[in-house]
Amino acid sequence: RKLIVILTILFIVGIIVIVSTAIIQNKPLPQKMKYGIVLDAGSSHTSLYIYKWPAEKENDTGVVQQHHACNVKGPGISSYSAKTDNAGKSLSECMDLAKTSIPDVRHSETPVYLGATAGMRLLREQDDMASENVLTSVANTLRSYPFKYEGARIITGQEEGAYGWITVNYLQGNFQKNSRFFGPFQDTQASVTLGALDLGGASTQITFVPQEEIESEENSLHFRLYGKDYNVYTHSFLCYGKDQALNLTVAINLKIDEPDNVQENPCFHVGYSKTISLKNLYKSPCTAKQKKNLRMDSVVLNGTGNASKCRENVLKIFNFSDCTSSSCSFNGIYQPHIYGSFGAFSAYYFVMQFLNLTTHHETSLAKVKEKMEYFCSTPWASVKQRFPTVKEKYLSEYCFSGNYIITLLENGYSFTEDNWNTITFIKKIGNSDAGWTLGYMLNLTNMIPAEAPSSPPLPYG
Ligand code: AMP
Repeated sequence: RKLIVILTILFIVGIIVIVSTAIIQNKPLPQKMKYGIVLDAGSSHTSLYIYKWPAEKENDTGVVQQHHACNVKGPGISSYSAKTDNAGKSLSECMDLAKTSIPDVRHSETPVYLGATAGMRLLREQDDMASENVLTSVANTLRSYPFKYEGARIITGQEEGAYGWITVNYLQGNFQKNSRFFGPFQDTQASVTLGALDLGGASTQITFVPQEEIESEENSLHFRLYGKDYNVYTHSFLCYGKDQALNLTVAINLKIDEPDNVQENPCFHVGYSKTISLKNLYKSPCTAKQKKNLRMDSVVLNGTGNASKCRENVLKIFNFSDCTSSSCSFNGIYQPHIYGSFGAFSAYYFVMQFLNLTTHHETSLAKVKEKMEYFCSTPWASVKQRFPTVKEKYLSEYCFSGNYIITLLENGYSFTEDNWNTITFIKKIGNSDAGWTLGYMLNLTNMIPAEAPSSPPLPYG
């Protein structure tokens, strides 16, 4: 009994010392943090994001932050269709890192989600069984960790667009702005939001609140967030991510009657040459319809480095003729008029950042085209010499990618010289990456309430 009394006294004294030291040093007591993990299984790679937030402020906007990010080594999970066991294994390194970066006591309550995007949507179209096996493999790996496994699934293009929009607006603090009670009437008018432009390897999304009413229900999202209603337009174009768009551009522009298998390509630099296997080119459901009766197995593409010719080639992958709505982007897809400001992230950022075209305040659309003309016409040897550390696959494709981005934004979505500067190319907002993962977690953990927190009404006037 005496020992218990002594230990209790020592424990109480210890607590008093810790609290008083914190008060004397004017330091807040450490907050209890919660954590969540989301894996973005993209077409070319997988990234793992760990988020954290103070437990007692769960429903305030802007409190969830990125704690860590980890890039999985190797290709995207859809590339493991022939060796599905390796899909799960590829995630181990980043999951081990998650184990060390989240305190042990929080592991069992930390949810882990995996969302696969367009690479897996395409694999499912091609080979349903293989895509199921890949998902089973990644699920088994995630389950073997001490976290709270919450599922591995292919998310829809609509979800990808919606969660990207939620992420950027949550991080900007747009939802809770002016959403407190102002007198007897709560202002239910949605506050100004940022549109979201997302470019992946296999699909691309556009999501924004238009000025006009949305004509098509399948492109509409209705949210009630912090007491405000939002009617959001979204569309995801499968096959219009930049890797699939490159394949599609090559496939559509292949000349069947060329005497040999060497063809010119204005989207590559002069001096750059690439051999492509036609079997690989037509393997994807995106290019399958373009299959031509060619006698050869491969073609050699020789760069001619001409930006405007490259955009002419790119334009051919868009269909502008069949529109049954009052306005369309392309391929007969309804799109209301572009309205408001936009954040363009993922590959939009990687490409425009490399090309030094992200500072839109000085860069008009005409200037962007001029810079592309110069970049594309630079011979491959000089490009390589100037950027010796940049991965050759990326470096050789920046001319195509820049021209694709211009064409998609200008001709596809109808951005103009006048509203080009409403687009900001962003990687992060604060400490957190822009992308669909944060919005996905916020939604699945119910961290964005429909109604504004019932804080005491502010005084009128
Ligand atoms: P996904 O894997 O579907 O999310 O697509 C990401 C896209 O971004 C792919 O087309 C990648 O090739 C591309 N990407 C990633 N990092 C870079 C980079 N540093 N420069 C250019 N493109 C990149």
